Amino acid sequence: MSATAADAPAQRVVPSATPVVQVRGASKSFGAHQVLHEVDLDVARGTVTVVLGPSGSGKSTLLRAVNHLEKLDAGYVRVDGELVGVRVAHGRLHELSERAILRQRARIGFVFQGFNLFPHLSVLGNVVEAPVAALGRDKAEVHAEARALLARVGLADKADAYPRQLSGGQQQRVAIARALALRPQLILFDEPTSALDPELVGEVLAVIKDLAAAGATMIIVTHEIGFAREVADTVVFLDAGRVVEQGPPDEVLDHPQHPRTAAFLSRVR
Ligand code: ADP
Ligand code: MG
Repeated sequence: MSATAADAPAQRVVPSATPVVQVRGASKSFGAHQVLHEVDLDVARGTVTVVLGPSGSGKSTLLRAVNHLEKLDAGYVRVDGELVGVRVAHGRLHELSERAILRQRARIGFVFQGFNLFPHLSVLGNVVEAPVAALGRDKAEVHAEARALLARVGLADKADAYPRQLSGGQQQRVAIARALALRPQLILFDEPTSALDPELVGEVLAVIKDLAAAGATMIIVTHEIGFAREVADTVVFLDAGRVVEQGPPDEVLDHPQHPRTAAFLSRVR
């Protein structure tokens, strides 16, 4: 993977015409339960999309489909124009090899609710693991970059600590540094602050806000409405697997058109 200026969240980039993420007609069932119903979603480069919706509405399934952790029954996802998980040959769809899927996934950062750090690796070890092991990048270069990323998330002095020695907020900031170490063109956040004590939420949201200001392309599932208002270019409201409403935060959050959006907002506010 070669990083371009647009990949590196170092400066605000001008959104280009081709969306980084294009979801079209995405449908997914688990057994008889249809969890996603023909979802369409575009995410322009350098923009932040916040996905809101009640528990069980399909938010995690949608993020997982973008990263090919979940396979769609119908529809498709493109990231940077490239189909996720499949390729077209002789007019037919063919599943990508496991290797090719890993390569696609390496371009996408994923930050989970539960941090998912490796407990047996130091903070620095967690950040350098994937770029060295999965991408085969130069170790010294990756280590230098990892230290810079740890400084960026306010953890320069924790490089040699182990996850169990850190607070939840610090662990989540390590997870963000780890995601950034892949130089992702897209970062997905699935309720990144839901597992945190309330007093630790702010430090994690501040890091994500900083990434947004630097032009990172992100999809963020969160129930933090105030944060959504500050950081989102687009808010998408998902209900029972359908996109019920989407638009700029001042429209969706302050003037919801759909009664389900209004009902949801009155519950979480
Ligand atoms: P959200 O993230 O909005 O809470 P999810 O995408 O996690 O929703 O789940 C949507 C629905 O799909 C839920 O009813 C959930 O129980 C179901 N679901 C998710 N993953 C699986 C799975 N692997 N097997 C069966 N049902 C699942
Ligand atoms: Mg979820």
